[in-house]
Amino acid sequence: MIIVMSGQATEAEIKHVIERVEECGFSAHVSRGVERTIIGAVGSGERREELKALLAAPGVVDVTPITHPFKLVSRQIKHDRTVVDVGGVRIGGHETVVIAGPCSVESREQLMETALAVKASGAHLLRGGAYKPRTSPYDFQGLGIEALEFLEEARRATGLPVVTEVMSTEDVEVVAEYADMLQVGARNMQNFSLLRKLARTRRPILLKRGPSATVKEWLLAAEYLLAGGNPDIVLCERGIKTFETATRNTLDLASIALAKELSHLPVIADPSHGTGVRSLIPAASRAALAIGADGLIIEVHPCPERALSDGPQSLDLAGFSGMMRTLCEPFRAMAAPKGDVKAA
Ligand code: PEP
Ligand code: MN
Repeated sequence: MIIVMSGQATEAEIKHVIERVEECGFSAHVSRGVERTIIGAVGSGERREELKALLAAPGVVDVTPITHPFKLVSRQIKHDRTVVDVGGVRIGGHETVVIAGPCSVESREQLMETALAVKASGAHLLRGGAYKPRTSPYDFQGLGIEALEFLEEARRATGLPVVTEVMSTEDVEVVAEYADMLQVGARNMQNFSLLRKLARTRRPILLKRGPSATVKEWLLAAEYLLAGGNPDIVLCERGIKTFETATRNTLDLASIALAKELSHLPVIADPSHGTGVRSLIPAASRAALAIGADGLIIEVHPCPERALSDGPQSLDLAGFSGMMRTLCEPFRAMAAPKGDVKAA
C-alpha cells in the first residue's frame, strides 16, 4: 500500500502513520519528495484493511495499493529519481556516466595501459573482470584476487573508481574489499542467494539484465537487493536472446525507457554485450543515451585481437577515444530528459 501524506503533514503525523504501518505487520519505507512524503507499506501481512483505514488519520491524503509486484523499486513508492554514488561518481544525475575497461583483467600492464587511456578519453569508472562467467569451462576464467590487486593499483594511478563482477556468495567479502561497485552478471541475475548476500553489503550494485529475463523479472531481482537493505542499485540492459544471430544479443533499447518509467533506479546500457560487434558500439551507445540511459559500460582492450575474452566486441584505445568524441555535450543535451520521465 502507498500512503500519501499531505504537503502540510507534520513530523508527528508522519511518525504516527509509520508506527501504525509497523503495528499492522508491514515495513514502512519513507520517501520524502520535494512536494510530499510517501510511506510505502511493504510486506505480506494480512491486516490490509487497517492500512486502508489510515485514510482517516491526520495528514493522510490518499491510500492506494501498489499495483506492481516490485514495490521498493517502483516509482509509485519513490517518484524522485535515485542517484547512486560510486566512489564520488554520481550515476543517475544530470551527467552521462561512462564505465570502460577490459572484459577481463589479463595482466598488470594490460589493465594499466587501458585504465590510463580510458581516463584520458573521459571515462568516469574503470571496469575489468577478475572472476569471469564463461560459457565453456576451458575458456579463461579470470585471475581472481591477483586481478583485484591490479584493479586497486589502477584506481590509485587514475583515480577512477572500479567496477568488477562477483560471481559467488563466497567471494562477496573479498570483492567488496577491493571494488567500489559490484557487478551481478547477466547469468546471475536470478541467483537469489547472491542477491540476498549483496543486499547486505555497503557497496553499490550494477545489476545486469539476464539474457532471457523479462523487465519484470529484472526489476524483481533489483527488489531483492532493495528489500534486503541495499538502496544503491544501477540497472544495466546488456541485450537479450532473440532469434537474431547476426548480433551476439539484441540490445533491447525500449527496455531502458520502460525500466526508467517503472523504476526510480538509474539505468545504463552495455552495447558491447548488447551487440557483440565492435563497429556497432558507437551507434548503439548514442541510441541508448537518446532513449534515456544514464550511462554506458564499454569493453576496451589495447589489442582486441589478443584479448582472452570478448575481443570481437572490444574497442581498441583509439576506437574508444573516437567514440567518446561522438557522445559530445550537444548530443547529450538532445537526449531524453533524465529527471522527469513520466510514469505510465
Ligand atoms: C561482462 O561484463 O564481461 C559480462 C560477462 O557481462 P554479462 O554478464 O552481461 O554477460
Ligand atoms: Mn565481456
